[in-house]
Amino acid sequence: MAMNYDLVVVGGGTGGYIAAIHAAQAGLKTAIVEKDKLGGTCLHKGCIPTKALLKSAAVYQQVKHAETYGVETGETSFHLETAMKRKNQVVATLYNGVQQLISSHKIDLYNGYGRILGPSIFSPMAGSISVEYEDDRENDILVPKNVLLATGSSPSSLSLVEVDHHLIVTSDDLVHLEQLPESIVIVGGGVIGIEWASFLHDVGVEVSVIEAQEQILPGFDQDIVKQVRQDLQKKGIHIYEQTLLKKVEADQDVTVTYQLTDKQESISADKLLLAVGRKANTHKIGVENTDMEMDAHGFIQVNNHFQTKEDHIYAIGDMIGGKQLAHVATYEGKKAVDHMIGVNSSSLTEQEMPSCVYSNPEIATIGLTEQAVQAKGLDYSVAKVSGLAIGKAHVNGNTNGFTKIITDNKTNDVLGIHMVGDQVTELIGQASTAKYFDSSVLELSEVIYPHPSLSEMIGEAALAAERRN
Ligand code: FAD
Repeated sequence: MAMNYDLVVVGGGTGGYIAAIHAAQAGLKTAIVEKDKLGGTCLHKGCIPTKALLKSAAVYQQVKHAETYGVETGETSFHLETAMKRKNQVVATLYNGVQQLISSHKIDLYNGYGRILGPSIFSPMAGSISVEYEDDRENDILVPKNVLLATGSSPSSLSLVEVDHHLIVTSDDLVHLEQLPESIVIVGGGVIGIEWASFLHDVGVEVSVIEAQEQILPGFDQDIVKQVRQDLQKKGIHIYEQTLLKKVEADQDVTVTYQLTDKQESISADKLLLAVGRKANTHKIGVENTDMEMDAHGFIQVNNHFQTKEDHIYAIGDMIGGKQLAHVATYEGKKAVDHMIGVNSSSLTEQEMPSCVYSNPEIATIGLTEQAVQAKGLDYSVAKVSGLAIGKAHVNGNTNGFTKIITDNKTNDVLGIHMVGDQVTELIGQASTAKYFDSSVLELSEVIYPHPSLSEMIGEAALAAERRN
């Protein structure tokens, strides 16, 4: 039997389930089709489990150095099994919360694989959803007025590297790691690669990172990357940039051959993590039954309202490319629903979306990098304040890092705020607020920041920017 809905969301990850709640709150009869677990990558394989593990690593490091604070702890050791158990508990608690939210908003959940049908007996337009089940249940057919596609992304592959989920793994495998390897080679120095490098190193694994591009963390401000590279190398992480993978052999361990300028070298390690980006989940979702278009990288193309070429089929989140972040997917999902119901809400650009890396040291950034500002030919100034200038950083015992503000000399607008150091991922929300309200550096410098607090770093950097002339 076909079921009618105002909205069917395909994919119950961060973008999808929050959009569904937003729609239900607006009175739409809404269903979610999810093939696995509500919460998606972010809750089960990404943001939450990795940050829970990074927290364990941070506690381990802090306890190891506790004597500096006058605390005697004796011998310390790290137990992966316990850290994983704690991580699983955090995920389970949040998963429970998401399930409750979906049922309390009376959203129908179909636990199967969603595929878009072309025009059929159910509807003259493409966009009915067939829900296919793993067992021998018959497919359900959902006939919605609007569809929201939010099927997310999966780890990209490399032809040279065959993932066997044992010696050669992806980040999806590492969240279930049972035993720490002695050593690992991470191919790909983007956000995911660097966060895992930081965690694994901090709990005692020998880590090497191979990045094909000019710098690890491609796209991040070069000053920030310089500091992070230095810090990671100082800790003992081996970083190879502008380095091309030539051969990967897996037997008892993994041997990686790479091209470094004019010579080839090899390293062997117990495992290889492949972290070379993420591809859109569009396989077998029925794109061919519609007029929807994909770009050269396989991401679904949408307009400013997140409509595909079929204007009642919207797509959001990782599957449309751009910044593949949970809060970006959430924002896009809510905007798509607002457009469906005719609500005219504010529209933000990528420049107003913060990005964080939860490595040790942390990175948090919003707006244009200095390199992007230069490429645009803007007249700009840079102000920087070191953690050394901040009382609370001394109190905490971590003055490493800095905050950099890039200002437009013509308008006094903040073009970008880039931070590296302790807890900066907690501070960037203030920069987001500033960007949202289009603050000038003068306004940012006049805000009262509590003393002593790390937030003073933003005020000090804004003050330095104000005095730039
Ligand atoms: P997803 O969360 O991937 O959800 C897609 C859902 O669709 C999945 O549940 C999937 O099972 C389902 N699905 C797919 N196809 C179908 C189908 N045909 N039928 C039914 N269901 C289907 N972002 C941050 O902002 N902060 C972080 O700290 C962060 N850390 C990360 C760490 C790692 C290791 C990784 C991999 C990612 C991280 N991300 C982080 C990125 C973040 O997880 C994603 O940007 C976010 O999950 C995207 O949300 P989404 O809704 O687009 O897709």
